[in-house]
Amino acid sequence: MLDFIIVGAGPSGLYSAIELAKNGNEVIVLEEDRKIGIPRHCTGIISNDAAKLIGNAAFGSIVNKVKRAVFKYDNKSFDLSFPSDVTLVLDRIRFEELLYEEASKLGCKIFTGKRVKKIDIQKDKVVVDAGDVHYAKGLIYAAGSRPSLLPFMKTPESIPGMQYEIEGEVEDQEAVEIIFAKEAEGFFAWLAPTSSSSFLVGLANSKISPKLALDKFIEKRRIKGKISAVYSGRIVIGGALKENVFSRVAFIGDSAGHVKPTTGGGLFFGTLGSKIIGSLFPSYLESFDPKVLYKINSLTKKYIVERINRMQRFSKLFFNMSQRQKEIILDSIVNSGAIKEISIDMQDFHENVISLFIKDLSFSRKGLKSLINSFLGRA
Ligand SMILES: Cc1cc2nc3c(=O)[nH]c(=O)nc-3n(C[C@H](O)[C@H](O)[C@H](O)COP(=O)(O)OP(=O)(O)OC[C@H]3O[C@@H](n4cnc5c(N)ncnc54)[C@H](O)[C@@H]3O)c2cc1C
Repeated sequence: MLDFIIVGAGPSGLYSAIELAKNGNEVIVLEEDRKIGIPRHCTGIISNDAAKLIGNAAFGSIVNKVKRAVFKYDNKSFDLSFPSDVTLVLDRIRFEELLYEEASKLGCKIFTGKRVKKIDIQKDKVVVDAGDVHYAKGLIYAAGSRPSLLPFMKTPESIPGMQYEIEGEVEDQEAVEIIFAKEAEGFFAWLAPTSSSSFLVGLANSKISPKLALDKFIEKRRIKGKISAVYSGRIVIGGALKENVFSRVAFIGDSAGHVKPTTGGGLFFGTLGSKIIGSLFPSYLESFDPKVLYKINSLTKKYIVERINRMQRFSKLFFNMSQRQKEIILDSIVNSGAIKEISIDMQDFHENVISLFIKDLSFSRKGLKSLINSFLGRA
C-alpha cells in the first residue's frame, strides 16, 4: 500500500508531493490533463516572499520583475511603488514543469491523463479509482476549483476568469495594472507584462461570459497586439475552509479555499497550506493523535484561515458594490494617509492593508459618508 495519493498535479499537489517525498513517504500523483502545466490557468504573479517559500521552481521560472502596481478606475489612477523587485511574474507552465521535475527526482510517480473518478475513504485506507485502482494510507485532495468528488465537501466558490497572452507593445515593463472596469463585474481586470514585447491581459466576471467581457474590454481600451495564447480558469473567492483535514483526507490549495479573495492569488497560501500538510499529515495518520491534528489546525488557522477570511469579508462587500460605490471607496483610499503606510511585507497579507485603511480616520469618515450618501442616492 502507498503512503499517499495526491489528486491533481497543480502547484499545490506537486508542492505537497515534494514535501511528503522529502520526509520519506511513497507518493503518487494523479493528474487528468495530459501535460503538466497545460492548460495554463494563471497570470503567475507572486511576491518575492512567495518565491522564497516555493524555492527553485519559482526562481527558475521568472520572466519579469515588477516595481509598481497601478490601480485604474474611472479615468483616474494611483500607484503603489516598491523600492526593489519584490513582485515577480512567472512563466506558469515552466513553473509547474520545474515542480514536476523536483517531485520526480525525489521519487514521486506522477501519472498524467489519469482522471480520478471515485474516492472511497475506508477505516484503514483510501481507495482511488482513476481507471486503475490505487490504495494508500492517506489522500491529499488538490483538484483545484473543480466540482468536489467527495460528497461531504462543497466545491469552492469561484468566478470564471479569462486571460489572453498578447504579443504587442508594452508601455511599462515594470508595472502591473489593476483596472476596476465595468467589464469586470464582481472582480477586476489586469494587465501584466511578461517581457518588453508581450503581456497578459485578463479579467473575471461574475455576471456575463468573461470572454465576451474581455473582448469588449480590449476593444474599449484599444489594447493592440496579436493574441498568442488564451487561458481560462475559475478564481476562488469564497474564503478558506475552517478545517482541512478529515480522517484520511487533507484538502489543500484552491480545493481548501487557500486563495486571496482580494486578488485571486493562490500560490502563496496554497504553498503554505501544502507545506503544513506535507510536514504534519503523515504523523497524524500514524496514530490519529489529536495533538497533531490540533497543531495542523492551529497553524492553518493562524497563518492561512484567519488572514484569508478577513480579506474575504472586505472583498465580498467591495466586489458586490456598484461601480460608483467602488469609485468612492477608491477615491477615499487615494486621499487617505494610510496609502503611504503600505509596506512590501503586506503583499500577501491584504488584511493588514485593509486594517490600515479602516483605522485611518480620514478614510473611514470620507469613505463611509460617501458610501451612505451613495446608498441614499445623493452621490
Ligand atoms: C485567470 C487566473 C489568474 C490567476 N492569477 C494568479 C496569479 O497571478 N498569482 C497567483 O498566486 N495565483 C493566481 N491564480 C490562482 C492560481 O492559479 C491557483 O490558486 C493555483 O493554480 C492553485 O493551485 P492548485 O494546485 O490548488 O489547483 P490547480 O492549479 O487548479 O490544479 C489542480 C489540478 O488538479 C487536476 N484535477 C482536477 N480534478 C481532477 C481529477 N478528478 N483527477 C485528476 N486530476 C484532477 C487539474 O487538472 C489541475 O491540474 C489565478 C487563477 C486564475 C483562474
